[in-house]
Amino acid sequence: MSFTIHGIGVSGGIAIGRAHLVSHTKLEVAHYEVPPEQVADEVVRFDLAVATVRGELNHLRSAVPAGAPAEFAAFIDLHLMILDDSTLSGIPRDIIETEHCNAEWALKMQTDELLQQFDAIEDNYLRERRADVIQVAQRVMKALSGQPGYLPPPAGDSEENLVLVAHDLSPADVVLFKQHQFASFVTDLGGSTSHTAIVARSLNIPCIVALHQARQLVRENEMVIVDGTQGVLIVDPDPQILAEYQLRQREFGLERQKLKRLRDTPARTLDGAQIELHANIELPGDVALAVESGATGIGLFRTEFLFLNRPDLPDEDEQFEAYRKVLEEMRGKPVTIRTYDLGADKQIDDSARASPNPALGLRAIRLCLTEPKRFITQLRAMLRASNYGKLQILIPMLMNAAEVDQSLQLVEQAKRSLDDEGITYDREIPIGGMVEIPAAALALGLLTKRLDFLSVGTNDLIQYLLAIDRTDDTVAHLYDPLHPAVLTVLSHIFETAGKAQMPVAVCGEMAGDVDLTRLLLALGLRRFSMHSAHLLDVKQRVLKTDLADAHPLARKMLRTTDPVKLRSLLGKLNA
Ligand code: PEP
Ligand code: MG
Repeated sequence: MSFTIHGIGVSGGIAIGRAHLVSHTKLEVAHYEVPPEQVADEVVRFDLAVATVRGELNHLRSAVPAGAPAEFAAFIDLHLMILDDSTLSGIPRDIIETEHCNAEWALKMQTDELLQQFDAIEDNYLRERRADVIQVAQRVMKALSGQPGYLPPPAGDSEENLVLVAHDLSPADVVLFKQHQFASFVTDLGGSTSHTAIVARSLNIPCIVALHQARQLVRENEMVIVDGTQGVLIVDPDPQILAEYQLRQREFGLERQKLKRLRDTPARTLDGAQIELHANIELPGDVALAVESGATGIGLFRTEFLFLNRPDLPDEDEQFEAYRKVLEEMRGKPVTIRTYDLGADKQIDDSARASPNPALGLRAIRLCLTEPKRFITQLRAMLRASNYGKLQILIPMLMNAAEVDQSLQLVEQAKRSLDDEGITYDREIPIGGMVEIPAAALALGLLTKRLDFLSVGTNDLIQYLLAIDRTDDTVAHLYDPLHPAVLTVLSHIFETAGKAQMPVAVCGEMAGDVDLTRLLLALGLRRFSMHSAHLLDVKQRVLKTDLADAHPLARKMLRTTDPVKLRSLLGKLNA
């Protein structure tokens, strides 16, 4: 039966394909149905994996050296207890039997359930045992991977025809998609500026978030249409609808093709203002698309993605190679590399998720300053890479003068350590700060007096100005870049930076929203940084903009507080 689900379209275009249901924390946990005659074997496979892990833990327990701290043995005992508890080793058997699913999926479902229960626990000690449950479950998962079980029949569809349907996906999960060619993905949770959505845009495939019920309602292998522009998922479409969307899909493709002609055209308004259009990237491999879209620089390299999906941290040499690759491929064009913004929804250490309010917690520069050694490793890698192009360093989430000063001191320390080793670097390397916290935006002198350039992170700035968790789909409808407070603060930033003769860019999602291009230009912005997929659309709008026409309307918008009037003025501005 055909039905439609509405969500928030975060990456435009149309995809038509077969649904593939995925679990939200680890993509490699496949979900497939096990035929009735194989169910008993699947239960045995699960029991064997549990027995293997029990053997491993017992072996570890017996090998504890006599002088080892008592906590070590206690830790193994705790893991044995968790393993033998029926919630972990019993309930997945029931799930396999009742749902006829593979053992990995049953374990995943039950682990997710347990973790949710842990999150609700008040007691800190017990809540911290969450990480132990994850570790034990991962051991069992690993043991399962070594035991061949029933494999689903090949679907007959290649990756390009698959639409991934998930309850939730972390940014770390989504960045793994860069190695794949899925047609699209959709999630129940998430907001339009969540990092999951941001990475989705960089994949250049249609994507919808905040569908609420899709993971429950859609069945494996069902035909679906994803309209990423309208935020609509059509399940099991009837032939007429399917034909209509196939036509729209071809038209969308033709339009994208036509836009490519603008690649080498300088971005200049009708009245001659020169505009910089830079690209945002997550991984060095994204540069190719940036070059293809005619980006005149990299305005934001979110380096934290180098730190995700791995058990260890990238060392200085590995980071250096990644930065050097980007600089070399950009051939002398400016490259702004942001120091890692880990924390909040991008964690490398699972225990840190226990933070009561991660978006307001130890994140970005706050985390870097508590781990100076790790931070200096990154700064040294960046400084070394500065020999290979035009690099600028960008620091996220600055809030007060002490953070700026400490960051600059650490840059100096990194420089001195390179001097001591006789390693060269760009001595005049510009250091900039992101304007993402309202306090920094309002007291902008904190940054303009100490730094060389600014980049406005509107995703966080709006999150903190409007008190909306950008990852929370239940408040996603309140996210509003046209809120009068947002416009007032942006105008203040551009004006104050202008007076201080400080270069300022916007690198949040607003910069890539073609409906806001003219408004930002009229408010004074001249440097935009966005995902490559949006760059030519934005360029087209720049080329058709007359600033003299846009200014009065933008000024009127700054004086307006009525949301309906604001939208109507924006309509006029874009007409
Ligand atoms: C922002 O906050 O607007 C930004 C560009 O940084 P991120 O989206 O990575 O938090
Ligand atoms: Mg940010």
